[in-house]
Amino acid sequence: MSATAAGAAGVTGRVLNIQHFCTNDGPGIRTTVFLKGCTLRCAWCCNPESIRPKPELAFDVRKCIGEKECGLCLKECPEDALYVVEADGKVRVNWDLCTDCGKCVPACPTEALFQFGREMTVEEVLAEVEQDAAFYQESGGGLTLSGGECTLQPEFSAALLAEARRRGINTAIETAGNVPWDYFQQVLQHVDIVMHDHKLTDPGRHKRWAGVSNARILENFRRAYTTFPQTRFVARTPVIPGVNDDEEHIRSVLAFIRPYPNVVDYQLLPYHRYGEGKYGFLGRVYALKDFPSVPAETLRRLQGIIDEAFGRTKP
Ligand code: SF4
Ligand code: SF4
Repeated sequence: MSATAAGAAGVTGRVLNIQHFCTNDGPGIRTTVFLKGCTLRCAWCCNPESIRPKPELAFDVRKCIGEKECGLCLKECPEDALYVVEADGKVRVNWDLCTDCGKCVPACPTEALFQFGREMTVEEVLAEVEQDAAFYQESGGGLTLSGGECTLQPEFSAALLAEARRRGINTAIETAGNVPWDYFQQVLQHVDIVMHDHKLTDPGRHKRWAGVSNARILENFRRAYTTFPQTRFVARTPVIPGVNDDEEHIRSVLAFIRPYPNVVDYQLLPYHRYGEGKYGFLGRVYALKDFPSVPAETLRRLQGIIDEAFGRTKP
């Protein structure tokens, strides 16, 4: 395919991960590019490694072969943030001292020490994305930007999406919408499908569970629906038991989106705990440790309300 358009080539962003053959991040088979940095602090977050904007150290103690057999990392740390635990002879990280400089990572032969996130150019990302081009054509898929919050790096995201489109790749983003409008609209003008979260309706409860009020988020969504009438929007709610698994929330989201014909669907994402292990890699604690999963009957009932609102109810 063609070379990157002038201007986009040198733009860099902080990328967490590039995932291939995704089937839940928009239509068809997609390549999902996860970016670093998020403005929310959702208690149920399954990507804690995406929250901080910069690359950060992670540690999997199971992979450490111990100080006696190795110990190579201990000589590298300028902050004395690595130490040995006598009981098992393995290394640990003092997270209060670690500055995420990454100097210990190349020394570790087992990848017990590793980093989440790296700086990449638009061209580097697209070279990896285009490896899947044949699958996009067959399945109606494309590129999805996710996070973290992909609109928090507006210059990089806009350049990447614009260039993908220029090469004939369908573009989608997953966003929570909590950024300045300028960031939001800079990215949205290059997007075919916007999957956006309505986590909680009440501003106070939104602040309690996601760390910020939803006032700016709702204002951004309203403006986006009318500013980009040709763009398809898909509203989504990650359903968290006891937090937002109630009819009232579902009905208020429907009341918010139904006046806009370009909001083409509303999807429920059942709560899962796949990200729990990553909290340990980062020296953090998962707040929802004892939360149950959402009963299937609850999901069926809430889905029924959505189907009815979208005229999909079977006779
Ligand atoms: S990332 Fe830097 S500060 Fe943190 S443990 Fe490794 S060498 Fe030390
Ligand atoms: S370099 Fe890696 S494997 Fe070796 S002691 Fe350090 S953490 Fe363990």
